[in-house]
Amino acid sequence: MGNDVTLVAVSKMKSVADILQLYEMGHRDFGENYVQELIEKKDLLPADINWHFIGHLQSNKVKLIATFIYLIHSVDSPKLLQEISRQGANHQRVINCLVQVHVAQEETKFGFDPLTLSELFNQLKEWQATGKPHFVRIKGLMGMASFTDDQEILKNEFRQLHELYNSLKEHSLPAAEINILSMGMSNDYLLAVSGGSTMVRIGSLLFGNR
Ligand SMILES: *Cc1c(COP(=O)(O)O)cnc(C)c1O
Repeated sequence: MGNDVTLVAVSKMKSVADILQLYEMGHRDFGENYVQELIEKKDLLPADINWHFIGHLQSNKVKLIATFIYLIHSVDSPKLLQEISRQGANHQRVINCLVQVHVAQEETKFGFDPLTLSELFNQLKEWQATGKPHFVRIKGLMGMASFTDDQEILKNEFRQLHELYNSLKEHSLPAAEINILSMGMSNDYLLAVSGGSTMVRIGSLLFGNR
C-alpha cells in the first residue's frame, strides 16, 4: 500500500489502566469522544499523549480542550470552526482540525454534506481576506463509512472521501496544510487504507468490545 498510516487508539469508555498499557508499549495517539471523559483521563495520564477528539463537539465545550488538544477530527459546522479559532486566539495556540464529511447512508446531524463543503471553504477564504491571524489549521478530512459489511458500499464511500480530500488539497485554502485523511475503524480499516486513508481510528479491535 505504501502510504504511512497513523493509528489512533480509540479509548472511549476504556480505563486509564487500559490506556497506560498501550502507552507503555510506545503508543502515543489516543482518541476520545466525550469532553468530560477526556479531561478526566488526561489529568491522570502522561503529558506526552497526543489527544485526538473524534466525537461530536459542542461549541461551548471547545474551551475545555483548547489548551491541549492535538487534533479535532469532528469539525461539523462553520460555527464550531469559528469557536475553535476564537479559543485558539485566547490561548495563542494554533489548533489542528479536520473537517468531518458525511458520506454514509445512515441519517446523522453531524458532518458536512459533500455538496456544502465548498461553502465552508469560501467562508475560510473570507476570513483570510480580513487579514486576521488564524488559530485553526485545517489538516484534512474525517469520514465514517456506512455501518455495513457490503464491501462495494464501503469502497465507494472511501473513494468519495479520497476524492474530496484530493480536491481539498487543490483548493489552496488559507491556513491549511492538507495531509490527513482520517477514515477507517475496526471493521473497515483495511478497505480504508487501500482507499487512501492516512489515519485510522480503532477502538474495539485494540481494546475489546465496549
Ligand atoms: C468509536 C469510534 C471509533 C472506533 O470504533 P471501533 O469500531 O471500536 O474501532 C472510530 N471513530 C469514531 C468517530 C468513533 O466514534
